[in-house]
Formats: sequence, C-alpha cells, structure tokens
Amino acid sequence: MRVGIGYDIHRLREGRRLVLGGIEFPTPVGCDAHSDGDVVLHAVADALLGAAALGDLGEHFPDTDEAWRDADSAGILARVVEMVAARGLRVSNVDVNLHAELPKIAPRRDEMRLNLASLLAVSQDRVSIKARTAEGLGPIGRGEALEAHAVVLLEEADSEQ
Ligand code: MG
Repeated sequence: MRVGIGYDIHRLREGRRLVLGGIEFPTPVGCDAHSDGDVVLHAVADALLGAAALGDLGEHFPDTDEAWRDADSAGILARVVEMVAARGLRVSNVDVNLHAELPKIAPRRDEMRLNLASLLAVSQDRVSIKARTAEGLGPIGRGEALEAHAVVLLEEADSEQ
C-alpha cells in the first residue's frame, strides 16, 4: 500500500465558474485558475501523484500550457489515474477536506462523491468529502480563496479488494 497527500488553493474571483469535485455551484464567484480551478480534483490528483511518487501537478500540467486553459479538471484527474494504473496501482480510498466559506457543500456532497468515485473507478463508499468553513479567519474566512486537502491510499492493482 502507498499513501499520498495532496493540496490545492485558488483565489476566488467574480465572473468565474465554481466547480468543486466536478460539480458546478451557482455562485457569483469562482476559482481564478488556468484550468477550471477545481481544488477538490486538483488536491486528489496531487495526492495520487504523491502516492505513486510521480512528481507534482504543476510538472505534468503546467499553467503555461494552453492545452489546459479553462480545462475540465476531470480530464486532468483521468490522466493522473492512467499514470497511476500504469504503475500497477489502484485507488483504495480517498479522503478530502474542503475549506470554504461558501457554498454549502452538504446538500451536494453525495453528488460530488459519486462523481469522484466514478473518475477514480471505485465505489462511492471509498470516497469521503468533508467540508468546513474557516470561521471567518484568514483569506478563506474572508471568502478570498478556497482550498482542499486530500489523502489517498493506493494498493497493488492485482491485490484482492
Ligand atoms: Mg489547482
């Protein structure tokens, strides 16, 4: 088994879409990023790369690459899942912490889990997404940014699950 840790933060800006875990939220602000700025999928992809010791996201998907401008991060995660599979590894489980003042995650948590499970080719009970506010503290609390942390466990693809 191999464990990986992932992190991402993006500034919030008016007029951008807010996409979290591949789900779009109708908010006046979204993530200011080269891709769609999905911090949940980016943190998970970062954790997958970490667990497989495959480097970091910026190395594989540089923000200077026009191919990833406004890209759907599901495509980025799918590419990382392929890289991990090529190493003979598969996802055992993933746990995500999302820190954001808005939007309310709970009503759409299962939608996000289902989507993430599908991208990772695992069942929904192997995917956890937890959300909290920053209690008004710091840039997250002021609604200037949001961030996500992820931990993922990989196992040998030929092991029993
Ligand atoms: Mg990012």
